[in-house]
Amino acid sequence: MRDDLRKRLQEVGDRIAAACERAGRSADSITLIAVTKTIPAADILDAIDAGVRHIGENRVQEAQKKFPELPAGVVRHLIGHLQTNKSRHAVGLFDWIHSLDSLRLAESLGKRAAQEGRSVRCLVQVNASREPTKYGLDPDELLSFLAQVGTVPGIEVRGLMAMAPHTDDEVAIRRAFVETRSLFEAARREAFPGVTLEHLSMGMSGDFEIAIEEGATMVRIGSAIFGPRGVEGDRRGG
Ligand SMILES: *Cc1c(COP(=O)(O)O)cnc(C)c1O
Repeated sequence: MRDDLRKRLQEVGDRIAAACERAGRSADSITLIAVTKTIPAADILDAIDAGVRHIGENRVQEAQKKFPELPAGVVRHLIGHLQTNKSRHAVGLFDWIHSLDSLRLAESLGKRAAQEGRSVRCLVQVNASREPTKYGLDPDELLSFLAQVGTVPGIEVRGLMAMAPHTDDEVAIRRAFVETRSLFEAARREAFPGVTLEHLSMGMSGDFEIAIEEGATMVRIGSAIFGPRGVEGDRRGG
């Protein structure tokens, strides 16, 4: 595993650098989040050894099992859907939550964070491709959501997260990223109190280069680093 992993990480790093070059961006404007869902803690430790600094999980329960084995200092991102009843646990486990998509969830996360004397960094998930099966806010609801969520104590909104449609159609993928980027810019111009729009989390193994070309600052990459997962790994959270 170890040599393979180093090689794949190196390749992903090279591809990120090349995409940045094409887009006229600096490679250090991109945070690589290694998506570790279904990956055993021992392999995550190897990845950390090989230079991974940010990891992403999509389920609270899986993180609860694996995180005690990981060193302090690795930055932990929740990238999957979060149910309000699991938000207490999520606040204790994660540094960033990419799947904020309701005021109810924001209030629950914020309350818990305030109890712990901290705040929780969140990205608002947008359903940019308007797929009925996807989580995230409808793009039409984003601005009014941001106007409200900025006032919730304990929450720091730092950007947006989106997923491209599940398709090989590069045009449709790019369109979803372009739309997310333009929502991001529009929201930025509104300068909502309590909301800082600095991060755009978009791009996975199959589409991260397009995402970088269209403005992503965080990419969430699993299989291109760790190899293919089983079907189980594609459950979207919970
Ligand atoms: C699994 C997952 C990823 C990574 O997917 P890969 O195709 O393996 O890179 C990224 N984002 C989310 C939300 C995921 O659930």
